[in-house]
Parts: sequence; structure tokens; C-alpha cells
Amino acid sequence: MGHDGLARVKREIEEAARAAGRDAASVTLIAVSKTFAEADIVPVIAAGQRHFGENRVQEAKGKWPGLRRQWPDLRLHLIGPLQTNKTAEAVALFDAIHSIDRPKLAAMVAREIEAQNRRPQLFIQVNIGREAQKAGVDPDSADGFIALCREGHGLTIAGLMCIPPADADPRPHFEELARIARRSGLTGLSMGMSGDFPAAIAAGATHVRVGSAIFGARPGH
Ligand SMILES: *Cc1c(COP(=O)(O)O)cnc(C)c1O
Repeated sequence: MGHDGLARVKREIEEAARAAGRDAASVTLIAVSKTFAEADIVPVIAAGQRHFGENRVQEAKGKWPGLRRQWPDLRLHLIGPLQTNKTAEAVALFDAIHSIDRPKLAAMVAREIEAQNRRPQLFIQVNIGREAQKAGVDPDSADGFIALCREGHGLTIAGLMCIPPADADPRPHFEELARIARRSGLTGLSMGMSGDFPAAIAAGATHVRVGSAIFGARPGH
């Protein structure tokens, strides 16, 4: 795993992009390093990977500042839910936040962007499968929420993010996310994980978030 997994995932991204008539360079691979230690992450950085994803602010704060001093060109993505009381830390630490999903959070992020003069890329998370237990704005409210973020809070939105239901064909969900993005003129699509990133690339993903296919099974999984 680690650097072999990375090479394999990159090959599969190239194949999926080619099959879709897309340039593989239009797909950013985010290596999801949550739960993995620095010793697991360093070989992947050494193999050339620069974008990494974490799902918890606290964990990322412990792991990444040291690595970033060594590799200043690393890019860190928050892909997990963000509590409003962690907004300041998240804006300070992350280069992209993929989980904007409610008005209060949008307001807090806007305030911190202003206060810190830092501009992380922002993705709005859509609960594409309308699952009760999942974070994300309802697909029917997405257009309104995108407009609120842009016009109400002056946020620049890079795109949309989703996690499709676990046991269903993800393709219709990826396609729906792409449609919602298109009608608001958004070009970024953060979708696709270890089990389904080729399908996400076929549907237009610009950011795939891949963990276990690179790092191996997470402890407890
Ligand atoms: C953990 C996680 C991933 C990566 O999952 P894998 O199946 O290990 O690739 C992607 N996106 C989010 C939001 C995650 O929490």
C-alpha cells in the first residue's frame, strides 16, 4: 500500500479519464489520510502526492503542521463535517473545505475568511441520496443554498461535493450532482471514493477523495 496504492489509483484515474474523453489533469486526486499516521503518509508525499484529505479538524491539527513545514506545497482538504465552533481553526488550517452545508456555517466561514484574510476553496455538500443520517443540503434546496452562499455571504463557491448511498449504484447520484452544479454555473465536482472513483470521473468529477485504495484498510474497518 502507500506508494504502490498511489501508483495504481493514478493509473486507474488515467484510464477512467481516457475512457470519458477527458484529460486526467482535470481530476485532482485527494489522498484521504484520516486515521493514518505520519509514517504512513510520508512515503505517499515522497512519491509525489500533494493533495490530502482529513475528516476531523482536531486530528489534522496534530498531523499536518509539521509535514507542511517540510513540504510547503502540500494542499490540505477538509472532507468531513465542520462544527461551527471549529470554523476559525478550519479556515486557518485547510486549503479547501468540502462540507459547507448550512446557512449558519456559511455565515461563520464568510466571517473567518474576512477576519483571517485566507481563502480556502469551498465546496457545498449535497445529501444526494436524501439520507436521514447524512450531512449535506437537500438536493431540492441546493440551488437556493448556493445562491445564499454567493449573494448572501459573498462566498466564492468552487463546486459541489457528495457521498452517495453506500449500497446503491452511485452513477445516477453523480449525474444528479453534476446537473445541480451545471445549472448554477459551478465547475467543481468533489465526488468518488475508493469504490467508485472511475464512475465519478465518467460523470465529471474534478476532485476524487480516495483513502483505502491508497493507504489500505483503516483500523476498525
Ligand atoms: C473516508 C472518506 C473518503 C475516502 O474513503 P475510501 O473509501 O477509503 O476511499 C472519502 N470521502 C469522505 C467524505 C470520507 O469521509
